[in-house]
Amino acid sequence: MGNTGWDWENVLPYFRKAEHWEGEAHEERGKNGPLNVSENQVERSVVRAWIDAAEALGYPRNPDYNSGDQEGVGHFQMTMKGGFRCSSAVAYLKPARQRPNLDIITNCMTTGLMMEGKKVTGITANLKGKPVEIRAHREVVLSAGAIGSPQLLMTSGVGDPSALIPHGITVRHELNGVGKNLQDHLQARPVYKCTSGSINTDSRNPVKLVGMALQYALTRQGPMAMAASLGTGFLKSDPALDRPDIQFHIQPFSADNPADGPHRFSAFTASVLQLRPESTGHIELKSADMRDYPAIHPNYLSTQTDCDTIVRGIKIARKICQTNPLKDMVTEEFNPGPSVAEDDDEAILDWARSNSTTIYHPTGTCKMGSDKLAVVDHRLRVHGLTGLRVADASIMPVITSGNTNAPAIMIGEKCSAMILEDAQT
Ligand SMILES: Cc1cc2nc3c(=O)[nH]c(=O)nc-3n(C[C@H](O)[C@H](O)[C@H](O)COP(=O)(O)OP(=O)(O)OC[C@H]3O[C@@H](n4cnc5c(N)ncnc54)[C@H](O)[C@@H]3O)c2cc1C
Repeated sequence: MGNTGWDWENVLPYFRKAEHWEGEAHEERGKNGPLNVSENQVERSVVRAWIDAAEALGYPRNPDYNSGDQEGVGHFQMTMKGGFRCSSAVAYLKPARQRPNLDIITNCMTTGLMMEGKKVTGITANLKGKPVEIRAHREVVLSAGAIGSPQLLMTSGVGDPSALIPHGITVRHELNGVGKNLQDHLQARPVYKCTSGSINTDSRNPVKLVGMALQYALTRQGPMAMAASLGTGFLKSDPALDRPDIQFHIQPFSADNPADGPHRFSAFTASVLQLRPESTGHIELKSADMRDYPAIHPNYLSTQTDCDTIVRGIKIARKICQTNPLKDMVTEEFNPGPSVAEDDDEAILDWARSNSTTIYHPTGTCKMGSDKLAVVDHRLRVHGLTGLRVADASIMPVITSGNTNAPAIMIGEKCSAMILEDAQT
């Protein structure tokens, strides 16, 4: 895409630098990084049966989808260490806390960028109710994520004038792509009632609950040490494709809305998403105040390819659940359910439109490139400004074909290397 230094060979060293992979050594896996990645520690029979059924249907088994070829089914790997989440704060901030040249200020909202002409000189922030100014000696690195970074640029007067002027924001730098090109992974969530116990029922059983808590307290293992999704599959929704275009997240529980708690019956979710959606959306300010959440317009399923792909993905989800050893465990398809006929593509798409949700992978809203919607260049410097870089998932020109956390961390690693390089020249 014309972004020098961002091809596979050039980003791989930063993925490796970030990672400490607990599994077998492999030339594409890191062994000495701060981000601990572990094998799946939790065995659930329904997840195992899903993997075996997919294999029985002809999808390949892939013991390590992070080693260069993602195609196939298997267990998820996790950013965990000793049963605890290994977040970027745990991996990077905690060990760096004592450095004399680092201040970490929490509970502090950045409210704007300070600028002198086209030079960014610092930030304004709200610290415990008080407005403060923080000046940058060299430059500011904006890492507020794919929603926050474009919002902060826009409220600071950097963006498309037609998106700023209605909110009374003075345009300080016209950059039409800010907040545009939003891409996300939309997940359709077929749910199957099953005979094997799931987290739905286990978590309502006081004896099992105590057992889970004890298991976690004593061994740091068991359901309390698990990620939401245990099984995965990167599959081709059409055998004619040259690489996978859909991904499954297999979760041994189900819910209408996670905030309402799990269903009362035993069930699992076979979430399916399209890896490279064509649909793009945008972030829209609701006001000039950073405290007002902006509107998120994801514009899901707005191209024919995206609609066709999700329909094919749901059909594959159904087929896997009708294949043994999983078939014998499934008692009923709860969602989409019998009212959505298997050969009725329109009904399947309607169901997907009304029931799918984000899997929380927003990207692309400050995209890297040199076209008219590009916000940063290949060294992550904001076009037309000095003293400002963006380093987070917003800079991805297109969404990654997989989960976005590790790529976001790679972007941070690469940005820090570029800052050092530039400081030396
Ligand atoms: C519920 C959930 C589950 C997920 N699960 C997975 C998963 O299993 N695997 C995976 O690979 N990815 C997962 N993701 C996606 C992954 O977390 C993101 O892709 C990744 O964190 C993006 O990193 P980022 O640096 O771009 O943004 P973020 O991690 O969102 O970091 C931006 C930070 O900026 C802060 N911020 C924003 N605005 C301001 C402001 N004005 N002032 C001060 N601070 C501000 C935010 O609080 C946040 O801490 C999940 C995301 C969510 C929400």
